[in-house]
Amino acid sequence: MATTLQETKTAEHLRIAEAHGAHNYHPLPVIIESGQGCWVQDVEGNKYLDMLAAYSALNFGYSNERFIAAATKQLNKVTLTSRAFHNDQLGPFCRELCELTGYEAVLPMNSGAEAVETAVKCARKWGYQKKGVARNKAEVICARGNFHGRTVTVVSFSTDEQYREGFGPFTPGFPLAEFGDADSLEKTITENTVAFLVEPIQAESGILVPPDGYLKRVRDICTKHNILFIVDEIQTGLCRTGDRFAWQHEGEDARPDMMCLGKALGGGIVPISAIVTSREVIDVFKPGDHGSTFGGNPLACAVARVAIDMIANDGMDARSKELGLFFRSKLQAVGAKAVQEVRGRGLLIGVEIKPNFPKARWFCEKFMEQGILCKDAHEDVIRFAPPLTIEQTDIEWAMERIGPILQSAEPNA
Ligand SMILES: *Cc1c(COP(=O)(O)O)cnc(C)c1O
Repeated sequence: MATTLQETKTAEHLRIAEAHGAHNYHPLPVIIESGQGCWVQDVEGNKYLDMLAAYSALNFGYSNERFIAAATKQLNKVTLTSRAFHNDQLGPFCRELCELTGYEAVLPMNSGAEAVETAVKCARKWGYQKKGVARNKAEVICARGNFHGRTVTVVSFSTDEQYREGFGPFTPGFPLAEFGDADSLEKTITENTVAFLVEPIQAESGILVPPDGYLKRVRDICTKHNILFIVDEIQTGLCRTGDRFAWQHEGEDARPDMMCLGKALGGGIVPISAIVTSREVIDVFKPGDHGSTFGGNPLACAVARVAIDMIANDGMDARSKELGLFFRSKLQAVGAKAVQEVRGRGLLIGVEIKPNFPKARWFCEKFMEQGILCKDAHEDVIRFAPPLTIEQTDIEWAMERIGPILQSAEPNA
């Protein structure tokens, strides 16, 4: 027998997943069994403080009572109707999301990548119908270093070779501008441009914060050239960065024409994503143009309504802002020689490691040994993005472990 009595539960799970699952991820070797608040427990009974929050899908933490109650109630009523019929959660969900965001209309999907696909389809059709762009010529400008998901069309505008290698041919019509550089956007605009799609902070690229005023200038340029300004708030939205939506850091003058939302909208329970925009723009979609079997299902909508209520009423934005400042100042105060820069906004924090030191992954493995889970963003940035429900005392607890590990790193020989 290959299985020995000594094999730990962790080893067994790793072996099974390795044997039967696709190897399209490189997870830390921890097998989570349950979660409560900001803490998870593995199959060995070890506890960890989660500082990734499922890439911000768990902004409200694990096993949040309000979400469980709403989900349970809806599970016992109806979970799926398809859009062939109406359901009594979809309308209220759309109205409440409009009230929260200040937009007029919602189109719900499931994953973030689908929301981005929806945004691209919407922008293209808008361009043909409202701007008179020549058939099949529409261009959506994207930013270098972007991350918008993993479908073929979405990786068509990625600049990360690994995301693209082996997956061509790609969808045409996505010129690139430099991120954080409004002049570069303006130079890239042609008569065929219908939209500019951008993350207000590039998270996967290493928590890259654009210069102040960038989004306002983008707004002006998009207005001047009559193109849609679309922000991908899938990771940065819903209070992650200290504002309800990251673009709000620059105020109402920076308001985009459309937002893509996802991740935390599903309360960490169900996948749900959406685009929000004006009635005029959304109305380019006619019955039959676009859809999704699970999009707008009553279970997801019921859960998302709780997320919307918490964002609107629970002061999560202020909490994220304050705790983010506290956490960043503590990270800065470590003064580790391995650290190039501590950056971010709210509780979306990146610690860039200098090139001649161990990779960010090495630090994440050390943190895990000390009971802290986080993940590298690119090779050289450690990302800290805990649930927004984290307490200051949890951050202090974490810093007692993070600080010494950051300090212990020696330059590569
Ligand atoms: C995670 C993410 C996506 C993709 O969302 P999925 O649900 O994984 O498809 C798109 N944009 C941004 C900015 C993201 O962080």
